Amino acid sequence: MKRIAREEIFKVNPYVPGKPIEEVQRELGLKEVIKLASNESPLPPSPKAINAIIKAAQELNRYPDGSCYYLRQKLARKLGVKENQLVFANGSDELIVLAIRTFAYPGDEIIVARPTFLIYEIAATIHGAKVVAVPMKNFRYDLKAMKAKITPKTKIIYIANPDNPTGSYVNKKEVGEFLKGLSRDVMVYFDEAYYELVDKKDYPQTLPLLKQRKNLIIARTFSKAYSLAGLRIGYGIATEETIDCLNRVREPFNVNSLAQVAALASLDDSLHLVRLRKILREGKEYLIKNFNQMGIEFVPSATNFILVKLNQDGTVITSRLLRQGVIVRNMIGWGLKNCMRVTIGTMSENKKFINALRRIL
Ligand code: PMP
Repeated sequence: MKRIAREEIFKVNPYVPGKPIEEVQRELGLKEVIKLASNESPLPPSPKAINAIIKAAQELNRYPDGSCYYLRQKLARKLGVKENQLVFANGSDELIVLAIRTFAYPGDEIIVARPTFLIYEIAATIHGAKVVAVPMKNFRYDLKAMKAKITPKTKIIYIANPDNPTGSYVNKKEVGEFLKGLSRDVMVYFDEAYYELVDKKDYPQTLPLLKQRKNLIIARTFSKAYSLAGLRIGYGIATEETIDCLNRVREPFNVNSLAQVAALASLDDSLHLVRLRKILREGKEYLIKNFNQMGIEFVPSATNFILVKLNQDGTVITSRLLRQGVIVRNMIGWGLKNCMRVTIGTMSENKKFINALRRIL
């Protein structure tokens, strides 16, 4: 049979998500399974969000509001930007794809780091763009080297800050130097999926940069800090002109109505974020203390997950952890053979993970 699909899609290694808890329970016949594999929040959504969802469920016979009117108003006020400086998406994942479809011609170049969030590379490859991957230095972005790769064909530079899977971040000074003299024709995309969870003083504030640089997109999400990963809602902040371009490509009903009301209600619950940050701070301290005791190396993390360096095959360790009911992320998809990535969970989850790891090692 003739293969009629586009050639580009066969160049892609499909994204392999962290295994769902139920799948592991089913496959391994385990009762108690914890998931520390997808950098999710360990807290359920705010009760305010849950109530809003229950109420809005009554109206699911209607299409969602394609403009996200109420959320747009509230978020614009919170961020101090104009309402039409925002675009909403089906998770910030969708925004990555939207940016490529909006700005890159097939054959254009997209600069990414390696290793970084895989969706940039997958989306660019499917689009037929050329991926220019710049190795990290010591598990950190090498912005100088990335800047040196710019050619007249470069359309977008994706910067995950903090990065996933390394958890490292680029600081204010590095971003300042990077943007100095950078071609105005290149779209710089700061992926700030973990923005609210960052605990570093020199983490850059990119919003004010929109005054100096037109070709800039800042992407954030309700998946992590707001515990709404299952609903899929993220957003981009950019100039009105950039947003207008993205909106032409965006599907009209890309953000479902439950996601909209839940995100809106979540913005009213600032205590939720305070609680989450405390859990993460304590969890990180606990994990680091135990890694140090066990002589395990790791990459210092600015966010809610840690890239752990093992001196043996990460696939072996992660599958042994799985058999003990602990799902962490195998890094083979990123080409990091002797590593695994663990998301910080509740303290009892962290303890379960450390106990299992101690048994295995
Ligand atoms: N960017 C980065 C760096 C991420 O790690 C993730 C989620 N793992 C995303 C974007 C996408 O998040 P979402 O689509 O849930 O907003």
